[in-house]
This record gives sequence, structure tokens and C-alpha cells, in this order.
Amino acid sequence: MIKYDPKSLKAEEFINDSEINETLKYADENKDNFELIDSIIEKAKLRKGLDHREASVLLACEDEGKLKEIYALAEQIKKDFYGDRIVMFAPLYLSNYCVNGCVYCPYHAQNKHICRKKLTQEEVKAEVIALQDMGHKRLAIEAGEDPVNNPIEYILECIDTIYSIKHKNGAIRRVNVNIAATTVENYRKLHDAGIGTYILFQETYHKKSYEQLHPTGPKHNYDYHTEAMDRAMEGGIDDVGLGVLFGLELYRYELAGLLMHAEHLEAVHGVGPHTISVPRIKRADDIDPDTFDNGIDDETFAKIIAIIRIAVPYTGMIISTREGKSVREKALRLGISQISGGSRTSVGGYVEPEDEDESSAQFDVSDQRTLDEVVKWLMELGYIPSFCTACYREGRTGDRFMSLCKSGQIQNCCHPNALMTLQEYLMDYASPETREIGEKMIARELLNIPKEKVRKIAAEYIEEIKNDGKRDFRF
Ligand code: SAM
Repeated sequence: MIKYDPKSLKAEEFINDSEINETLKYADENKDNFELIDSIIEKAKLRKGLDHREASVLLACEDEGKLKEIYALAEQIKKDFYGDRIVMFAPLYLSNYCVNGCVYCPYHAQNKHICRKKLTQEEVKAEVIALQDMGHKRLAIEAGEDPVNNPIEYILECIDTIYSIKHKNGAIRRVNVNIAATTVENYRKLHDAGIGTYILFQETYHKKSYEQLHPTGPKHNYDYHTEAMDRAMEGGIDDVGLGVLFGLELYRYELAGLLMHAEHLEAVHGVGPHTISVPRIKRADDIDPDTFDNGIDDETFAKIIAIIRIAVPYTGMIISTREGKSVREKALRLGISQISGGSRTSVGGYVEPEDEDESSAQFDVSDQRTLDEVVKWLMELGYIPSFCTACYREGRTGDRFMSLCKSGQIQNCCHPNALMTLQEYLMDYASPETREIGEKMIARELLNIPKEKVRKIAAEYIEEIKNDGKRDFRF
């Protein structure tokens, strides 16, 4: 039997099938053990996280009273660590050429009716201008895996183009990258190109299912895919983003695997994942989500988010427009810290929205509101939409970012940065109604900066943004 070892660099040892199965058995046996559950909740209240076994017990628990306690704690931890700030981003699809056979993804190589597209640098430029004109400052670039059509040189060229475009007051200040698992050498090139987070969804941690769901192409190799984050870190990338595609396998197996992956990164590299994403399978060209047996309902989805929140309090959580308004609203309360807005999942979709029958899209978007509508909605819910990218530009990545979180200085740093970037958004892109709500929010929230000196400087910067046309202040 393969032995479980979080420090190992071998996929099957740090994501260990027997350890997960034993964890699930332990969780089943203890799902009504209120003494144990209470002690786990007490431990979570210390805000130092939970391990995969503890989190799995909470996930197995069905007692309404205990679940209420877990949700309340998730909400509190969310507030304590992230305040009311929600970071905004948008995906940018560069190319849907793909040589893999992922059975849940419309990009799969056998799909002959999806319209294949790859942006030229001119088209990248036009997409970025459209995104800047919406108000975005942070992107996640996405591409299929195709060494001929989308080699690393193409991705690097696109990143350069994206960073180079300064349209009116716009700028993309952070490019996160979601491309297939690659080599240490290529990760080093991405690092040198100045990317933010490297994001790679595991899809499923269950090796056998993984191999069946990825029957052909380089992505078939479970070990290579699972060990990608270690190579990324070896290549100098400090911030990595994990995720599973919920619906492919049993969600309890996935949560245990996801947390074991986080524990592994912490054990080996001294820093856990920067973010965790929680995508669910969606309808797409050639893809019917109902053909997958492990879909989860909205209640279970919320429970997973709450448990991730209390298990890894320092890890940001991302929800995309795969989810609609009401699911997003609940998810924000329970732990999500980053959301996309105004997203298009088709290649070139920001400049030219596509007809359904010639779609190149990756999945159907459930939240079709504009960025301005999402920003306004967030503020009406009491959240502060943040376009901040300061940490990574100030070199606060990896463990340096984590120590900022742990120092309790976030309210003197992230909070004013959120307000200043929101003020930029209001000046340059917001509708009059959004601007009015935002101005009131900023005036109110400035008072919540604890340090007097920081409060005073932030207020001055905000005046300069408003009255002198200045931009890009940061703490
Ligand atoms: N090609 C890259 C890779 O192999 O990791 C990543 C880019 S892919 C554009 C981004 C993610 O979209 C995938 O990792 C997968 O989890 C998700 N995805 C694929 N098909 C989907 C579907 N039908 N519904 C929802 N998400 C999907």
C-alpha cells in the first residue's frame, strides 16, 4: 500500500487514496459525535485552520444546530480576515484550441462543432481595451492546452501585450494565469513575465476517475497534473490557486483531497495556496452537466464553502460567473473573497459577443450582469468592491502575504487600498447611481481605518484621485 506523506513530492503519497478513504470512514463514524464536532468547532475558532480529517467530519455532519454554528463561524472568520472587501476580476480567454480529451469540457479535441479561435496580439489588445473600459484591473487568462497553437511563447507574448496597454486611465495591473500543467522552466518564464497567481484546477483528486475523465492528451497524466504546483513553486511562482470541478466525483472525497493538497504545499513550501476556486460543472457546447452523477445542490455547495473558509482562513476563495446572483450572494457571506464580473467565456467575447450557434465559449454564464451592476449590487449588500492589486506589486506574495494577513495589519493596508481603487472605478467607469452609492460608502469606510496616520493619508489620496486626476496610489 502506498504510504501517506504530506511532505512527499509524489502525487500518490501526498494525495493518498487510502488516507482519503480512511478519512471518509472516520468522518462517517463520527458524524454524530457531538463531543468531537464541538471540539473541532472550538479549534476552528482559534482561526488557525483545520486538517482534512477534521474538516471531513464537519462535512459529514448533518445536524442542523451544528451546521448553523459552522455557518456562523465561517461568516465571522470571513469578516475578521477579509472585512467587507471583495476583490474583482475578469477572465480573458485567449485560445480554445486544445489537444486534450477532457470529457466535461467543450474544448475537448473531439468536439468538431465548437468554433476554434485564438486571439492575435491585435485582438488581445482590443479585448484588453474593452476590459479596461469596463473598469477591470485584474485578469485571469485562460487557454486550452495545445503546444502548437498555444505554446508558452504565445502565452508570454499575450501577457506582455496585456501589461503594455494603457488606455485612457486604464491598466491591467495583475495577470493571473490558468493554463495547463507545464514544466519548471515554463513556470519560471511565467514568473519572469510578472504573473500574479498561477491557477490550476485539479478537476478531481480521485486518480481512477481522473484518468477516465481525461482519456487522451497530456492532461491524462494524473501525477504530472497533481505535482504541477510543486513545479510552479520551484519555478519561483509564490502564489498558486487550487480548485476542483465539483460534479465530477464525490464531493467529500474532493474536499479531503483539496485540503490534503493545501497541507502538502504548506509542509513542503512553507506556504499554502493563495486561493481556492469552487467551480461546478456547467452546460456547454457538447456538454450536458446532467450526464455527470456527482452534481451537488446549492445547500451542499454552501456547506463546502463554509467549511473551506474555516479550514484555511488565510486562503482567498474565488467564485466565477458559473454561479448566478443568489448562489453568489450566499457564497460571499460564507467565505468567498474574489468574484468575477461582466465575464465572457468566449474567445474574443468582450469585443464581439457571440451568437449561440457559433459559440467558442467554455461554459454558459449564469451571472450575466455588467461589471457596473455587480459593483452596485455588492455595495448594496454592504460589500466594498476592491480593484486592488497592491500586494503582489509590492512584493507581498507567498509567505510575505501570509504574514501580512497574520499580523492583523490588513485593515490598515487592504482596506484603504480597496477604497482608493474603488474611487478610481467610480471616477472613470461607474454609472451615476453606482457612483453616488460608492461615494457615500467611501466616506463612511474611511473612518474604519484604524491607524490615524493611514486614515489621513488615504483621505488625501482619495481627494487627489477625485480632484487632480491622479491614479494608482497604494499602501
Ligand atoms: N486548459 C487548462 C487546464 O487544463 O487546466 C485550464 C483552462 S480551462 C479554460 C479552466 C477550467 O474550466 C478547467 O480547469 C475546468 O475546471 C473548467 N471547466 C471545463 N469545462 C467546464 C464546464 N463544462 N463547466 C464548468 N467549468 C468547466
